[in-house]
Order: sequence, then C-alpha cells, then structure tokens
Amino acid sequence: PFYQRAHFLTAAARVDQCPADEGREVAFAGRSNAGKSSAINALCHQNALARTSKTPGRTQQLIFFQLDETRRLVDLPGYGYAKVPDSVKRDWQQHMAAYLEQRSSLGGLVVVMDIRHPLAEFDRQMLHWGGRADLPMLVLLTKADKLKTGAARATQHAVEQAVSNMAGQVEVMLFSALKRQGVESVQRLLDR
Ligand code: GDP
Repeated sequence: PFYQRAHFLTAAARVDQCPADEGREVAFAGRSNAGKSSAINALCHQNALARTSKTPGRTQQLIFFQLDETRRLVDLPGYGYAKVPDSVKRDWQQHMAAYLEQRSSLGGLVVVMDIRHPLAEFDRQMLHWGGRADLPMLVLLTKADKLKTGAARATQHAVEQAVSNMAGQVEVMLFSALKRQGVESVQRLLDR
C-alpha cells in the first residue's frame, strides 16, 4: 500500500547532494527507453511519478522517491545507446560508481532491460558495479508483452545463464508495465 503513496523527494546531481543516508532504498537503472519510468510508475500505481526524471537537466541526476518514512526508490540516470559524448559517459560512471559503493542505505539494485535488447554494455557495467558493491540485484526484463510467452521465458533463461557467475546475487524476472505483469512479484522482492 505504501507504493501508492510514493512521491518525489529530491534530485541529486552528486552523491553529496543525496538525502540523509539512513533508512532503506532500492535503485533503478536502465538505458534510456528501456522502460524504467514505466516500470517505476507501474510499481507505484501512478501515471506520471517517474516522468520527473525526464525533465531536461535532470537527466544526469539521481531522483529520489519517498515511499514511507524509511523507504525510498531511486531513479538513476541512464543514457541512450546512441553516441554519447565520452565526457558524459565518464561523468556518469563517476557518479554511479561513487553512489553504488558509498551509499549505506542502498539495499538493492534493479537493472531494467527491454526484453528485446537485454545485457547491453550499459547493463553489464551496472551488474559489474552492483556485484562489486555486494548488492542483491534484480534484472527486470520489461516489455515482456512484446514477445510470446515461450520466447519471453527463453530470454529469461538465457539471461539467467549469462549472470550465473553471480548466482544467488541476481534474480531475473519478466515484467510488463503495459499488462501489469510482475508488479506484485517485484513489490514482494523490493520489500525483502
Ligand atoms: P525509460 O526511458 O527507460 O524511462 O523508458 P519509458 O518508461 O519512457 O518507456 C520507453 C518506451 O517504451 C515508451 O514508449 C513506453 O510506452 C514503452 N514501454 C514501456 N514499458 C512498456 C511495456 O511494458 N510494454 C510495452 N509494450 N511498451 C512499454
């Protein structure tokens, strides 16, 4: 029920601008267009919550959503697979590495991937950092409605195979914001 009460808390351009490092938060990462905003909105039963992250100038910021007094979701900045200037990439890498390594209240990392294009370089980078930071991770294969059930399951298994070197640390789930597939399962996992 507290997911429904999610609301924008603050945006941070740097780790030292993040809200107090207490309570618990789970961060969402994904390439642009992966379906991350739609996934956050679906999980929080809201239509426009995560749109904040798309305001120009906010694209490189960490966006914090408050769920209740102690719990937060964090929308991490991503970038597109189109050519991104190296300076932007470097800046992003510094941000992300610092946040994932230093943030004590960070309890887990969700890497959102379009089920039709999983495990891009961006995704592998996030999984690598999450692994180094010892974070439990969830690979969310979203837009599952774009594939037939069998093909979606096959992709899920292929991704599970690909991350089997981090078995126990990474779960892989099918999701669809459109069909609201997986909402309750993901909420249960986030609660843990
Ligand atoms: P973000 O850039 O990662 O935040 O991606 P968005 O959430 O804005 O989604 C990118 C595009 O994918 C939009 O056109 C969405 O409507 C579409 N999309 C997102 N989730 C789903 C889904 O579960 N199913 C389908 N069919 N389309 C989706």
